[in-house]
Amino acid sequence: IKPETNVTSSSDDTTLQRDQDLSLLGGLLVSGFKKDTCLSRYQSYFYRKASPYKPSSYLLSKLRGYEKVHKRCGPGTRQYTNAERLLKQKQTSDSESEGCKYVVWMEFSGLGNRIISIASAFLYAMLTDRVLLVEGGEQFADLFCEPFLDSTWLLPRHFPLSNQFNGFGQHSAHCHGDMLKRKLINGSSVSSLSHLYLHLAHDYNEHDKMFFCDEDQSLLKNVPWLIMRTNNFFAPSLFLIPSFEEELGMMFPEKATVFHHLGRYLFHPSNQVWGLITRYYQAYLAKADERIGLQIRVFDEKSGVSPQVTNQIISCVQNEELLPKLTKFVEQNKPLDEEEEPKLRAVLVTSLTTGYFEILKTMYWENPSVTRDVIGIHQPSHEGHQQTEKLMHNRKAWAEMYLLSLTDKLVISAWSTFGYVAQGLGGLRAWILYKQENQTNVNPPCGRAMSPDPCFHAPPYYDCKAKKGIDTGNVVPHVRHCEDISWGLKLV
Ligand code: GDP
Repeated sequence: IKPETNVTSSSDDTTLQRDQDLSLLGGLLVSGFKKDTCLSRYQSYFYRKASPYKPSSYLLSKLRGYEKVHKRCGPGTRQYTNAERLLKQKQTSDSESEGCKYVVWMEFSGLGNRIISIASAFLYAMLTDRVLLVEGGEQFADLFCEPFLDSTWLLPRHFPLSNQFNGFGQHSAHCHGDMLKRKLINGSSVSSLSHLYLHLAHDYNEHDKMFFCDEDQSLLKNVPWLIMRTNNFFAPSLFLIPSFEEELGMMFPEKATVFHHLGRYLFHPSNQVWGLITRYYQAYLAKADERIGLQIRVFDEKSGVSPQVTNQIISCVQNEELLPKLTKFVEQNKPLDEEEEPKLRAVLVTSLTTGYFEILKTMYWENPSVTRDVIGIHQPSHEGHQQTEKLMHNRKAWAEMYLLSLTDKLVISAWSTFGYVAQGLGGLRAWILYKQENQTNVNPPCGRAMSPDPCFHAPPYYDCKAKKGIDTGNVVPHVRHCEDISWGLKLV
C-alpha cells in the first residue's frame, strides 16, 4: 500500500519530513508515542486521503494546552491523588485540588454513540479546563490507543465512585438536574460539592438540559468532578452557550469539522483492530479504482429483507450515480470510447445481516452494467444483532466504521451514530438513506449531508436568557436541524 497522496518511498529528507507531517495530520497529532504500540497512529495516512479540512492554529494550541493539563493532572500524578481524596471527604477545599478538575465519561450505549459522545465530552473538557477520563476498562483499551502522550485517559479501576455508577440516575442525590428541580443548587451549596452527576442521555429532562445554560455552567465550574452519562453528540448546543461561543469560533472557523478533527485526534484503532482494518482493506478495497461505502442499519432487527428498503438502496445508489444501472447483454457488446474504460468499483457494505448484500452482489454478477464497470460487493461481517458486551464484536464494529471512513463515496443510514462516525472521520458528506415510516417508499430515497459532523439527536429547545422555549435550530446560521432527524441539531 502506498500513501494515498502518491508520495513514493525515498529516503531524502524532504520526503521524510513530508511523510511525518502527513502522518501527524497537519499538526493535529504530536510525535513521541511508541510506534509499535499504536500502528494506526502512524499508518492511517497510507489508507486515507489527506483531509480537505485543516485544523486551525488555535485548535492546535488548545490541544497542546490540554495535553499539558492532562499530563499534570492525569491518573498517577500527585494532583490526581489529591483530587481523588476529595471524593472521600465530606467537604472540599480549593487548595487541595490544586486546580485540577475532571469530567468522567461513563460507559453507555453502542460503540458509535460512545465515540461521538466521548468527542463531545472532550470538547467540553477543553472548554472548561477539565481532564477527560473514560470508563470502560480493558474493553476500551482493546479498541483504542491512548490519545494522550505519557498519560492515560482510562478511569482507574479503583476510582472511589465506581461502585456508585450503577446507581447514578436522574433521581440520585448528586444529579445536577434533580438538585436544580429541588432547588438545592446555588453558588454556596455547589462550592462544597466534590462531584456532580450530569445526566445528558437521550432521555434527559428539562432540568438536566439546564446544563446548556451559562448560569449553570458558572456553577459547575466550582465542582472538581463531573460524572457524565451521555450517548449524544452534544457539541452543536455548546455553540449556543454565549460563554463558549467565541472560543469555539476560534477553535473551529470551519464549524462543521468538530467531530472530524477531534475524532481523528482521539480515536486511533488499537493494533488488533488495525489488523482487521488493514487486512480487509488490502484484500478487498486497495485495488479498486473507486471505493463506495454503504452502511445499512435497520433498527427493526426482526424485519428481515424488506422490498421497500431494497428499492430505496438501489434507487439511491443508481440515481445518485454512485453505482451504474444494469443493462441487457446486447448493449454490453457496443464498442466503447477510450475514456469509457471500465472501472473496478468496490462496494463495502456493512450491516448486521446479509440480505441486502446478497441482493446487490447477485444483481451485479448476473447483469452487466451500462458503464461496463465491474462492481465488487463486499461485507466484512454479519453479526446478527448488537452485542456490545463482546470484545470481537466491538472490534469488528469499530473496524467497519473505520473502513467506511476510508471510502471515496459514502452512503449511510438515517439516525445511525455508526454511520456518523464513518462520515465524520472521513470528512465526507455522505448520502443519507432517509428513514422509512410505515414501510412506505421514501421519495427521494436519500439526500446529501450538509456537513460531515454528526447530528445531536436530543438537543434542548430553551432560551436560557428569556427563560422560554425556542427553536434552537434557528438561532445562528451554523447550527441547523439535521437532514435525517427534523428535531436534531447539527453544525453546518
Ligand atoms: P447506532 O445504534 O446505529 O446509532 O450505532 P451504535 O454503534 O451506537 O450501536 C449499534 C451497534 O450495533 C454497533 O456498535 C455494533 O455493535 C452493532 N452494529 C450495528 N450495525 C453494525 C454493522 O454494520 N456492523 C457491525 N459489525 N456491527 C454493527
